[in-house]
Amino acid sequence: MAEETKSGCTGDCSSCSASCGSRDPQSLIEPTKELNHIRHVIGVVSGKGGVGKSMVASLLAVAMRRAGKEVAVLDADITGPSIPKAFGITGRAEGSELGIFPAVSETGIKIMSINLMLEQPDAPVVWRGPVIAGAVKQFWSDVLWNDVDYMFVDCPPGTGDVPLTVFQSLPLDGIIVVSSPQDLVSMIVKKAYKMAEMMNIPVLGIVENMSYVKCPDCGKEIHLFATGKTQNVADELGVPLLGEMPIDPDLATLVDNGCIERVPSDYLQKATDLLLTLKDKEA
Ligand code: ADP
Repeated sequence: MAEETKSGCTGDCSSCSASCGSRDPQSLIEPTKELNHIRHVIGVVSGKGGVGKSMVASLLAVAMRRAGKEVAVLDADITGPSIPKAFGITGRAEGSELGIFPAVSETGIKIMSINLMLEQPDAPVVWRGPVIAGAVKQFWSDVLWNDVDYMFVDCPPGTGDVPLTVFQSLPLDGIIVVSSPQDLVSMIVKKAYKMAEMMNIPVLGIVENMSYVKCPDCGKEIHLFATGKTQNVADELGVPLLGEMPIDPDLATLVDNGCIERVPSDYLQKATDLLLTLKDKEA
């Protein structure tokens, strides 16, 4: 056990989010399987639940797959997993002595989620934070991801234990913050931004979801909330606004039917263009 110093520092950064000179941001990164070659890891985060974070993580994965990339989604939203449902994946994950095999979607996206481990997908995960965080680490370290160009990590909302684990334990290229256009956006997005900043993780940009509704008859865009708020926050923080997605009933239906890969629209073109410019970490 590390001894506590006068400043209160035990030298154990695993339970501390302080940004101090002695912190090596790389030091807590968990190793993954030797067989795994994962070039880019992107965290998809939100300040609060229900804004469409899993939707954006899924759509980014679909878009990158369409761009011809090897893609994976690590569903770190352990208590509210929604990735398998969106991709129509049921059943349990299998393993061998080498590790756990991810599920593979219709178009070849690799997926790991707690729901692939449960006997009943509707069984609640009633675990303490450290156990949940341990499961997320295992998804990174024990799954046979093999070759992956882009891995998207669907983080649980907020700035709690699990996002902290993801930020500390996975070699993130950066995060994409998902938000909705209500009044609270500024404060909530800033919390997520500042957490990433504390952990030396780049914020690649912000996606605003549920920005407007399109009239099915005349095509007019109806903005239910005040416009421009997310753009203002993005400008203030100096990060790009990577997309404004409408509330699209077809999207909701595709997710409900497990067919997200058949989505015809590409609302996240700007985000995917940016991701394609990231420099490869590993050949
Ligand atoms: P979060 O991950 O932030 O909790 P989800 O991605 O699970 O949120 O989205 C919450 C619900 O809203 C889901 O049923 C999802 O299908 C739906 N949804 C999210 N974004 C949209 C959208 N742009 N258009 C229609 N439905 C959406």
